[in-house]
Amino acid sequence: MKLPQRWTSQLGLLAAWLGGAVLLGLWFGAISWWLVAALALYVAHVLRQVYMLDRVLFGEKRAPSFETRGLWAELLARVEKIRAKARSRKKKYHRLLREVWESTGALRDGGIILNADHEILWCNPAATTLLGLDPARDIGNRIDNLVRHPDFVRYLTAPKGEEVTIPSPVRQDAWLAITIIPYGQNQRLAIARDVTRQVKLETMRRDFVANASHELRSPLTVIRGYLDALDEDGELPKGLEAPVAEMRRQADRMTQILEDLIELTRLESAEPAAPKELVDVAALLGRIVEELARSAEGRTLELHLETDLALLGSESELHSVFYNLIHNAVRFTPPPGRIDVTWRASGEGAELSVKDTGIGIPEDQVPRITERFYRVDPGRSRATGGTGLGLSIVKHALQRHGATLAIESREGEGSTFTCRFPPERIARRGGSERAPGRAVI
Ligand code: ADP
Repeated sequence: MKLPQRWTSQLGLLAAWLGGAVLLGLWFGAISWWLVAALALYVAHVLRQVYMLDRVLFGEKRAPSFETRGLWAELLARVEKIRAKARSRKKKYHRLLREVWESTGALRDGGIILNADHEILWCNPAATTLLGLDPARDIGNRIDNLVRHPDFVRYLTAPKGEEVTIPSPVRQDAWLAITIIPYGQNQRLAIARDVTRQVKLETMRRDFVANASHELRSPLTVIRGYLDALDEDGELPKGLEAPVAEMRRQADRMTQILEDLIELTRLESAEPAAPKELVDVAALLGRIVEELARSAEGRTLELHLETDLALLGSESELHSVFYNLIHNAVRFTPPPGRIDVTWRASGEGAELSVKDTGIGIPEDQVPRITERFYRVDPGRSRATGGTGLGLSIVKHALQRHGATLAIESREGEGSTFTCRFPPERIARRGGSERAPGRAVI
């Protein structure tokens, strides 16, 4: 093993020191005393150097006067180098931290770091302005004790969807969209955005559509009245009969579109959750199927009641949902197709499925058919009295019942629309009022 030069020189120094003691001992006698004295001096020297090193390591900024060469000088230089490196790293981290702090401080979106128990670990200044959080007071507190809106609390415990929109807890008429992103070990970053402008625009759009629809309804009623009178007037010139009949049909269509628009805006602006009236689903479906069976000639329309569960919801909205789905199935199933409407229990909840053997929907268009005015074949939709708004109404009404709509379809083979209702919307009757069964209409 090759010793480093600092050690060879140190050992050389010790050897020279002891050699000198031996020579003096030989000259003056009592050699061992000379050796003991030389060793004692060497130990004292080493202790002094250790003491100096201790001062350097445990406090003093600069090295006190010290050996300039040899082992101790090199040890000190090494220590100094490590300390300088640590100092510059610390400075770098400080700078980085300041930059992160300044940039998160300049952000207009509020950022809050939460732990697994929803306690606030950190928040930026925008979170203070938007949510009224005070870092000095609120760090360590649960965020749901400070932001108590029920939609936010629900989203916090079970984040569903991309974000939740709630009124600002500090500014009147202001709205916030909050997104929660999980990261690290059970930590979560909540980002709050001011969406007041978007919410106001959306409200304006909704109000505009609702007002325009209401305003158009009255003149249209007058026009329809005159058209009805003309149509029923037996003395209409021959050439005008067909145009008047067509004008009447178009006026009816416009009325239907207006009714659907009004219904859609009503659903959009109502409370997010539908009321919880007891709805006898079997009776409701029975009425709808009976009514639609009249226009279903040539097709088989069957109702299967596999459960007698009732629903807790809005009867008129559920009527609208079921009517739209079954009516669509009839309209898009040419004779001699078949439509099966089934009401059944499913897990803790219940589901309604409407299955047809109709024209089906191309796979790439399935996700789009619940958009307003989206139709796969506008000509066919119009010809069968469609407005293009039916499934949007279905989607909104189901959302208000905490229910989901699943669509399975194959072009040319048929479609199945399934509404799934959660347990909290199911009413279990004591005793069976109606034996589950099969009704064929
Ligand atoms: P519309 O008034 O045009 O029926 P909807 O919103 O109810 O409007 O439906 C949108 C579109 O979805 C329809 O135009 C049609 O193309 C398609 N669709 C809906 N239900 C069915 C079905 N059972 N079979 C095939 N296509 C359907």
